[in-house]
Amino acid sequence: MLKFYNSLSRTKETFTPAHPPLVGMYACGPTVYGEPHLGHARPYITFDIVYRYLTYLGYKVRYVRNITDVGHLENDADEGEDKIAKKARLENLEPMEIAQLYTNSFRKGMDMLNVTPPGIEPQASGHIIEQIEMIKKIIEHGYAYVVNGSVYFDIEHYSKNYKYGELSGRVLEDAMAGAGTRELDGQDEKRNRSDFALWKNASPEHIMKWPSPWGMGFPGWHIECSAMSAKYLGETFDIHCGGMDLLFPHHECEIAQSKAANDVEPVRYWLHNNMLTINGQKMAKSLGNGISLVQMFTCSHPLLDKPYSPMTLRFFILMAQYRSTIDFSNDALLAAEKSYKRMMNGVRTLNALVYTADESKVDPKLNDEIIKLLDACQAGMDDDFNTAITIGYLFSILKHVNNFKANPATISGLTLETFDKMKSTFNTYVHDILGLIDEGPANPHIFDELMNLILGSYAYAKEHKDYATVDKIRAEMKKEGIAVKDTKAGYEWGYEE
Ligand code: ZN
Repeated sequence: MLKFYNSLSRTKETFTPAHPPLVGMYACGPTVYGEPHLGHARPYITFDIVYRYLTYLGYKVRYVRNITDVGHLENDADEGEDKIAKKARLENLEPMEIAQLYTNSFRKGMDMLNVTPPGIEPQASGHIIEQIEMIKKIIEHGYAYVVNGSVYFDIEHYSKNYKYGELSGRVLEDAMAGAGTRELDGQDEKRNRSDFALWKNASPEHIMKWPSPWGMGFPGWHIECSAMSAKYLGETFDIHCGGMDLLFPHHECEIAQSKAANDVEPVRYWLHNNMLTINGQKMAKSLGNGISLVQMFTCSHPLLDKPYSPMTLRFFILMAQYRSTIDFSNDALLAAEKSYKRMMNGVRTLNALVYTADESKVDPKLNDEIIKLLDACQAGMDDDFNTAITIGYLFSILKHVNNFKANPATISGLTLETFDKMKSTFNTYVHDILGLIDEGPANPHIFDELMNLILGSYAYAKEHKDYATVDKIRAEMKKEGIAVKDTKAGYEWGYEE
């Protein structure tokens, strides 16, 4: 039984979708005005795990992840310049060129991290009509007001009929006191500081703007997610994912908008991943510690000691449960790299094992132990998608795998059924659920042939006691992160651990 933490009820709940086997899942996507960075890796890998695990459990997941290509102002209090328009001005490009450019790099970055693309990836700029329609409904229901061509959500009035703050736990008074650092002044169009923009009137020089019943303007920050999730998943859907930094105000506002428009609870389960810090600090442009994925993979950032591969980064993130904090450091990444390689070596070793039947030798204790470990992998994932626990059990299985390799006769301690289950379950967890791929060679066949050639030279040199060549081959291989091993059966290679 899958249980996970629902930010709405603040408890772990058993997951029961409204219309099984269908599951509607929405995740807040990126605002595309810059290169994808480390901060993007954690949420999208987390949601990918949710998607993959639900799929593994047999659900048919409709996964919607939006692209914010409009309307995200620099300041959460609905002020400042549109981030995309600003970048376009700085780079002398059309705003849509900026959005396209960084949508492309985001998709490429996600692909490298082996993050499954969503089934539907709606863009905010392509859903202006849906957003306007939803705002019209909110105004009709009396929960929004129009001032000078802008539309604001009326939190005070909403609070008379609904509970504002049910997700964040903020009560209205707090929200009204804490929504902005500045006082309401005479120029402010909002009735209350905590009111938020649904639609903003565009100044003549503003580039990204659309006609609306209230004049030329652009949608506010929160409305796109409410409008697009309802369009593709219905007014109530199962799971809404996002980073913890979006819980307030973004998700709180999404709930308010959806309830004001449709009078139903929009989301049944809210899932929030925790943040990734860098050397103990929050990631921020002003701190100079924002590392892009490309910088990470190519070691082109002063905070990096070496390049880290996409799978190293993925493994690093999966080594923690998604609700715990993760701190990025070179040491932590190096440890993740070692573990990832150990895991990949383990898969290779496991897949090379051959079963030898000897029914008389079945060891019930060993057989049970393997079955228990395999079941525990699922128990780990069932308990709030705890990838850290599951990875721990996979390594426990690998200890046995290495024993089987060292003493092939002990394989017959397992029944054939358990042996087959061990192979298939292990591969399923590593590749399908955790989404780890062996980054080694693009064409494993050619790579293996080349390695065999080198190992052949190595064997020849050994046979002829040509130790200079033996040492040279070992050293050259080591430089590439590959270890040459002498075994009873001959010579073989593995990743340097
Ligand atoms: Zn959103």
